[in-house]
Amino acid sequence: MGKSIITSIDKAKLCLGCGMCKAICGKESIKMEIGNDGFIHPHKINKEINKADEKVIYKICPGINVSNEKSFGRKDRVWGEILGNYSTFSKDKEIRQLGSSGGTITQICISLIETKKVDAVLQVGCATDDYTRNELKVSRTRENIVSNASSRYAPAFVFDDMKKILSGSKDTFAFVGKPCDVSALNNFVKEFPEYRNKIKYTIAIVCAGIPSFKGTENVIEKLNGEAPIKNLRYRGDGWPGYFTFDDAKGMKYKMGYNDSWGKILGRTVHFRCKICPDGIGLHADIAVGDAWETKGGYPDFKEKPGQSLTLVRTIKGERLLRELIKSKALEHNEIEVSKLKDIQPYQYKRRIYVTARIIAFIIVKRKLVNFKNMGIISNIGKANAYVYLREFLGSVKRLLKGA
Ligand SMILES: Cc1cc2nc3c(=O)[nH]c(=O)nc-3n(C[C@H](O)[C@H](O)[C@H](O)COP(=O)(O)OP(=O)(O)OC[C@H]3O[C@@H](n4cnc5c(N)ncnc54)[C@H](O)[C@@H]3O)c2cc1C
Ligand code: SF4
Ligand code: SF4
Repeated sequence: MGKSIITSIDKAKLCLGCGMCKAICGKESIKMEIGNDGFIHPHKINKEINKADEKVIYKICPGINVSNEKSFGRKDRVWGEILGNYSTFSKDKEIRQLGSSGGTITQICISLIETKKVDAVLQVGCATDDYTRNELKVSRTRENIVSNASSRYAPAFVFDDMKKILSGSKDTFAFVGKPCDVSALNNFVKEFPEYRNKIKYTIAIVCAGIPSFKGTENVIEKLNGEAPIKNLRYRGDGWPGYFTFDDAKGMKYKMGYNDSWGKILGRTVHFRCKICPDGIGLHADIAVGDAWETKGGYPDFKEKPGQSLTLVRTIKGERLLRELIKSKALEHNEIEVSKLKDIQPYQYKRRIYVTARIIAFIIVKRKLVNFKNMGIISNIGKANAYVYLREFLGSVKRLLKGA
């Protein structure tokens, strides 16, 4: 088999395993599998991928394409278009408790179904007895949506069946995903405009990077859990909540967020995430993260009632949020944009320094990425020259070592 665009994206460590190429080429051509590195990869099978499909993948693969349709203009160059900026939480105590931060996304999705704005929500959830099966769920009820609350810090099978789902009925959908998932979906509907009206709302989770399944295994191993593992949660059920699971002996285990994400999961993050120009959902209607209280530049991870950071990016998103506030489904407090730097220090630094890593990648790997109109070039002006150079040289060194 000749070298396909998919193989070349994957070899350059830019493949996020989203499954969009499988949706385009069909399951006779591509199989998505978890590799030895603990990430999902597309594998070509018996059939050659035709040139027309290759061209489409080249244009829409989110590993290499993240572009802003309009230029940033006068928008805030670090945080992008913000029509509203709030700390929010669900007024339903169960949802606030179960959600990753304030249960905001779960509440928004339930309201979208209950007010019949969409027929179903496309979101990632997991099989209770197989933590490696994080996959796209089509949620139609409050129970479905609540069962998918909380963040899963591991790869997910997202778009494998996207064409089938969108063309299989007259249903309309809301989509919840990482910012790169939202980019993939936007790229997809741009290429296939017949599906544009099927996706009514997009909601992004703020994202620092996707850890490998090896990260999950390492946490389980550290706690001496015995396979098979059941009921694994990465966080939630509190804020930030604990990494919890039951093992084969029926024993229950838990590890705090600072140790699980900070010391284990975060160390296995995908290479592509290190050059990600958008962890803040620039292209979604609404982006939701944690409204961290920070001390000396570091988030305070002491358990408390959840608070989400909700960034509203479109007029449609703003209308929706206003309705949820009016119907008393969501509590909200306005936040000044100038405070975002303290609430999300990691995302702030990434938006300013990410070009150093992207330039290093392009020079060392001689591969181009289509990150267009992302506002990252003009953000260089906010960088400290010494830190910028250190980021650049550190990236070059790591890339030359093959890391
Ligand atoms: C990989 C990853 C990195 C993150 N990095 C950050 C960060 O840098 N800063 C920050 O503030 N917060 C981060 N988060 C947390 C995320 O922002 C929270 O999910 C957000 O606070 C929403 O909280 P909520 O209570 O409103 O969500 P909930 O009501 O709990 O809903 C969470 C939603 O996320 C979806 N979801 C869960 N896991 C995945 C996944 N792997 N892929 C796609 N969709 C998923 C679920 O389907 C659900 O709809 C990260 C989460 C993940 C999964
Ligand atoms: S479309 Fe998704 S799975 Fe396919 S190569 Fe690109 S990132 Fe990987
Ligand atoms: S950091 Fe960026 S590329 Fe990585 S999973 Fe998050 S949104 Fe996708």
